[in-house]
Amino acid sequence: MEKQKTLRGSASYTGITLHTGVRASLKINPGEINTGIWFRRIDLSGAPSVRALAGNVVDVRRGTKIASGAAEVVTIEHVMSCLHACGIDNAVVDMDGPEPPILDGSAKPYLDGILAAGTVEQEAEALIFAPKSPICIDGGHTQMALFPNSDGVLRIFCTASFRGCPFDPQFIEMEITPDNFRDNIAAARTFVEFGDLKQLLAMGLVKGGSLDNAAILHQGAIICKERLLWQDEIVRHKVLDIIGDLYLCGRRVHANVVAVKPGHPRNAELALAMQKSIENI
Ligand SMILES: [Zn+2]
Repeated sequence: MEKQKTLRGSASYTGITLHTGVRASLKINPGEINTGIWFRRIDLSGAPSVRALAGNVVDVRRGTKIASGAAEVVTIEHVMSCLHACGIDNAVVDMDGPEPPILDGSAKPYLDGILAAGTVEQEAEALIFAPKSPICIDGGHTQMALFPNSDGVLRIFCTASFRGCPFDPQFIEMEITPDNFRDNIAAARTFVEFGDLKQLLAMGLVKGGSLDNAAILHQGAIICKERLLWQDEIVRHKVLDIIGDLYLCGRRVHANVVAVKPGHPRNAELALAMQKSIENI
């Protein structure tokens, strides 16, 4: 029997946000058993909070946004990915605005903070989502499918394809253990297509975007501050986002996930189908 886990201490972060381009702070605190992952807006009166569940997702256009009443938070997927990969069931994430710091565009700084804070087992059995039958999301361009497995792990098979990218298409298969996440996924950075940038800027987004926190795909080249960490860094970041988004089902996931050209909209749709199937158990 696996036990629930939370952080031993707290992990704090400060930096610029990707979309609003302002300075923000985020602190991950321990949570009580059977409470799950919560985001709390400490800048708002009464510090309203929202549970990280797919049923609370309100926008998936650029990053995953959840809301409940006045408690709105966006781009939560990198924090969620670390919590999921580390098997942290319960935590309260305090934020002083709607968006977390983007840091270097990967999940590594968040992971480093969590590992430094340490984790501790709690006196309750871990709640696991292990499907009995497949769940498929047919998103046209994007396909997501989740299958039962017998070995009690989260295993992700993922493709990514970006026209003009020098390494295209990309495929990766990975068992998501804490060590694999730390060594092979956490440091993969956010990518953006040059053609999308103009549109994002027109929407008033990516004000905090720079080569410090994103790599740009443009006419067959990848523009980034330092060289690529892996030739298939894009698909690794896709896996990072999937791990975070699927944790919105509310439980650690033990299943095989097949993702073809995934993105936040279909990730969230799959997480919602998973959450609903848990409610039906
Ligand atoms: Zn991401």
